[in-house]
Amino acid sequence: MCGIVGYIGKQKASPILINGLLRLEYRGYDSAGIATIEQNGITIMKDKGRVANLYELDGINNLTGTVGIAHTRWATHGKPSKENSHPHMDNSNSFAVVHNGIIENYHELRSFLESKGYSFYSDTDTETIPNLIHYYYEKDLEASDNKFLAAVKKACDDLKGSFAIEVLCKDDPEHMVVVRQDSPLVIGKGMGENYISSDIPAILSFTKDFYLLNDREFAYLSKDKIQFYNNDLKLIVKEVKSIEWNAASAEKDGYDDFMLKEIYEQPVAIRETIGAKLNEKKIVFDDFSLSKEYLKTIQKIYIIACGTAMHAGLGTRNTFEQLCNIPVEVEVASEFRYKNPLVSEKTLCIFISQSGETADTIAALKLAKSKGARTIAISNVIGSSITREADYCIYTHAGPEIAVASTKAYTSQLTLLNILAIYFAELLETSEENILTELKQELLNLPKKVELALKDVASIKSFADMVYKESDMFFLGRGIDYAVALEASLKLKEISYIHSDAYAAGELKHGPIALIENGVTVISIMTNPDLVEKTISNVQEVITRGAKTLIVTNQPIEDKRFDQVIHIPETSTLLSPILSIIPLQLFSYYISKEKGLDVDKPRNLAKSVTVE
Ligand code: GLU
Repeated sequence: MCGIVGYIGKQKASPILINGLLRLEYRGYDSAGIATIEQNGITIMKDKGRVANLYELDGINNLTGTVGIAHTRWATHGKPSKENSHPHMDNSNSFAVVHNGIIENYHELRSFLESKGYSFYSDTDTETIPNLIHYYYEKDLEASDNKFLAAVKKACDDLKGSFAIEVLCKDDPEHMVVVRQDSPLVIGKGMGENYISSDIPAILSFTKDFYLLNDREFAYLSKDKIQFYNNDLKLIVKEVKSIEWNAASAEKDGYDDFMLKEIYEQPVAIRETIGAKLNEKKIVFDDFSLSKEYLKTIQKIYIIACGTAMHAGLGTRNTFEQLCNIPVEVEVASEFRYKNPLVSEKTLCIFISQSGETADTIAALKLAKSKGARTIAISNVIGSSITREADYCIYTHAGPEIAVASTKAYTSQLTLLNILAIYFAELLETSEENILTELKQELLNLPKKVELALKDVASIKSFADMVYKESDMFFLGRGIDYAVALEASLKLKEISYIHSDAYAAGELKHGPIALIENGVTVISIMTNPDLVEKTISNVQEVITRGAKTLIVTNQPIEDKRFDQVIHIPETSTLLSPILSIIPLQLFSYYISKEKGLDVDKPRNLAKSVTVE
């Protein structure tokens, strides 16, 4: 979730670029850099660390170029370092590129380019791009009337993965090419100057007129003109959109609330959390590895967290148990820390906290460590307290989550925990290879499936309209769907103030059914084909007693008995929570809106619970 900025115009580019990067800082990054076209070619200035460090670089004030590109990096391939920072150049210093995203087939591309005599100075996937552009620029494009654009297009045809890129060309110093695929990019139109950015707020102070690029659309920009092309390099017309946002709504990217924005950011958050981890034959975590010998000594895994993060543990316990054959306990941090838990050096404890500052989780971590357990922290914030305390840490790359009710951090945590479970299983050799390969493929398919799950807003809204005045709701599920029921119920409580409870569907008869009467709402999640019929029977029981019902399912259920059925895409049962929670996040959101509540800042709650 890092950022790119670009400028092409009549002013000195470097201050505008750095200023733009500073506005993107909230997205998180580990290094920053700019490239401008100077008299003697392309000049690059970059370093590890904060954007402000760029001001200190030797010669930065001497840059006079009026065309430039800039980048804040969140490393996916290769450690944060000066060499790995963007922009990257090809071997002949003819092309400079900044890139957000991941090139999944970079290994292949790198070997291909090496076989053609290219060499590489960085560990990034990105460095393949300028070299590939150079390769095509030098080859077969004589007939093309725009060699620069044609070379970028040919290079993009070879790229698999996600990218938003800006390209400078030494031989065409008054133009720039930009293109995107599954990573954000907008173009701001000025008078005799144009701006590029990952998001609108970073350049809103310069212009209010924007073009939004779709996947695989190219823009060839000069200071006075922007030409748009489709993926066949046919000229297309794009309409400029004038944004009438104030600073506050700009931060929300035009969404009414941060929560809604964050719900819609989930495909990107999940894609970035997966990062490069699934591209290798075996899963690799940068900066983190456990040995097979150590894992073999583990007799129990504890997953410890609070609130939604704890639900991410419940939603992935099955994956660890089924794939790794190790028993897993999921525990609320505030309970764990006071219960004298059975923990030893044969226990592996995983702690999850979006902010990394959750007081109970940190205390639980310290306790587990003192008892000899090894500890892994999962957080969304680099350098947060929990990551400093733990033996190992891994990050979700969800980007900043501002709404109090967690959405994209939760689905990113689920994603990361599933990857971790597969990683353990690969080391331990406790699962068949084809099962793991299939799961990895399903994980890679998730961002697109989440996009699909976000589409059916009309049915969710209409059910929310029907029930928002109710005072009690119940969520039911079996197996992994029960974990989702707990999270969906928490979401509803947090932002709608409606009382709700979640039950394992089979528990209904053991008490809660006494509460079902005319008008009570019951929401059921059914994603496990083996358990659907059983849960449907439970729902029938509540219909008989007058409940209104909503079903979230990936099964072919169409039944007039239910008030609403929401269909989500199919995936492996182990991964289904990542999809089934999506309509239920939207449901809570629309209920809260109908009630006229402050969705982002619900009463009595804080984003990061740093007190016990
Ligand atoms: N994959 C690229 C890298 O690791 C870009 C990462 C980013 O989006 O910042 O350098």
